[in-house]
Amino acid sequence: MSKFNSNYMITMDDIVREGDDILRVVTEPVSIPPSEEDREEMISMMAFLKNSQDPIISKKYKLRAGVGLSANQIGLNKRMFAALLSDDQGRDREYALFNPKIISHSTAMTYLPESEGCLSVDRSVQGFVPRYEKVQIKAYDAEGNELKLRFKGFDAIVMQHELDHLNGIMFYDRINKDNPFKLPEGVQISSLY
Ligand code: ZN
Repeated sequence: MSKFNSNYMITMDDIVREGDDILRVVTEPVSIPPSEEDREEMISMMAFLKNSQDPIISKKYKLRAGVGLSANQIGLNKRMFAALLSDDQGRDREYALFNPKIISHSTAMTYLPESEGCLSVDRSVQGFVPRYEKVQIKAYDAEGNELKLRFKGFDAIVMQHELDHLNGIMFYDRINKDNPFKLPEGVQISSLY
């Protein structure tokens, strides 16, 4: 068992920062259904995101607010991530995805005008990160059930950011090297807002 069992509280000390090799590996698929260890780790990853979005807890433990956390960001070479998003009514939506994969996407693209942030990156990075506006993801849940999920806009950006982590890609790898605010040509792309 890794130390990240369901009673373990992940803090910023556990978050791997850029420069560490684990953020550059193509992570290994987990067994389906996920093992108890995988499921426990996922519970602690999701708890971190909840804590990080809680004004009181995040202040007390000095947590940076996060919407997504991939397993290799806590040093685990596993294809799984947690995302904590909110729906139109502001209610939490939890995604604990094992072996996630994009199975289709829009041709239209989008980007966050303020660039993206990452719990593993302690500096602000300027530039546009082109992302598909819509993605469909196949993944497995903690019980081993196959899921097919559709995301658009901000949620789609988060999913692509986390999937990139599982493939060893950092968000800034996708920013144009010569001009960070240059957008890809020949595709329909517009700012998220
Ligand atoms: Zn990240």
